[in-house]
Amino acid sequence: MEQQIEKLFTWLDETTDMISEEEDVPYLDGLIASSELLFYRDLPEDLESTYYNKLQSQLDMINLSDFEVEVRRKALQLAILKGMKGQTQQHHYITPDTVGMFIGYLVQRFIGDKKEYTLFDPACGTANLLFAVINQQEQKDSLVAYGSEVDPTLIRLAYINTNLQEKQIEYFHQDSLKPILLEPVDVVVSDLPVGYYPDDTTAQAYDLKAEDGHSYSHHLFIEQSLKYTKDGGYLFFVVPSLLFESDQKDQLQSFLKEHAHIVGLLQLPETMFKNENMRKSIFIIQKKGENTRDPKKVMLADLPSFKDAKAMDSVLQQLNQWFKNER
Ligand code: SAM
Repeated sequence: MEQQIEKLFTWLDETTDMISEEEDVPYLDGLIASSELLFYRDLPEDLESTYYNKLQSQLDMINLSDFEVEVRRKALQLAILKGMKGQTQQHHYITPDTVGMFIGYLVQRFIGDKKEYTLFDPACGTANLLFAVINQQEQKDSLVAYGSEVDPTLIRLAYINTNLQEKQIEYFHQDSLKPILLEPVDVVVSDLPVGYYPDDTTAQAYDLKAEDGHSYSHHLFIEQSLKYTKDGGYLFFVVPSLLFESDQKDQLQSFLKEHAHIVGLLQLPETMFKNENMRKSIFIIQKKGENTRDPKKVMLADLPSFKDAKAMDSVLQQLNQWFKNER
């Protein structure tokens, strides 16, 4: 598997370099073009002949069907990370596989044996988190997924990621804090953008708008996600661990109390973050509905490094215990 990933990554990387040099575009745009070439195998006729021949010989070297879908996902992810290095702001970083897989595990536990369900990520970026979750689900075939993202490059990467993995996800390229043409879903997962939301006019429609100045986008995202969740549906967010220590914590707390049940707060391993202030947690809530109630106990845990199998096992046992007590 490792060798296959390396082979596909090298092909993507070389082809991307050729395209970005020739067309004078950033690496990530070149990567979109090289991935599309790999998928559609369609070269525009009007290319200058040396460039056309170079790309044609790249194409002759590769066949997408020789690579398993997981290999495709990993190779593309490596290339995306290379393209993001040093030039993208931190909030663009893709959600690490370990976090995605853990959220995928939680979704599976909460959804249980429900046969069909809908899933939405309102800040889907390259869709890495969505795929980590989708690939973990037992009922993959009856899962309908949606993603929304404002950044044009990232949504194109999400789209090509989806094609390469031969999956179907419906994407919205838009500011997700504006109305979305989507029926409420069963589950939301999202690694939320953290910081100020610059559009004060749009923020006016939210209960969680700031009284003065810009509102926190992660607060608005929580409110918007609840709006697009069915009653009783679950939401899994990656949020700053200091979520309830900001100047707007009271507003957030009373809003959540009215509309949701707080189900869990799991601190991600401290080794994943540069310092304590940047640490993040997985925050789980359930939208209130007719037959919902607060959990007897909130699921709380301080996750150990994902590499520490023994410590991780003990956390999983605690979580199992929690599910037993609650159901
Ligand atoms: N989970 C993603 C992945 O695996 O690639 C990464 C999510 S990243 C932490 C947060 C994303 O939110 C970024 O891709 C950013 O462009 C997007 N974003 C920020 N503000 C947004 C808005 N108002 N509407 C839609 N997307 C937004």
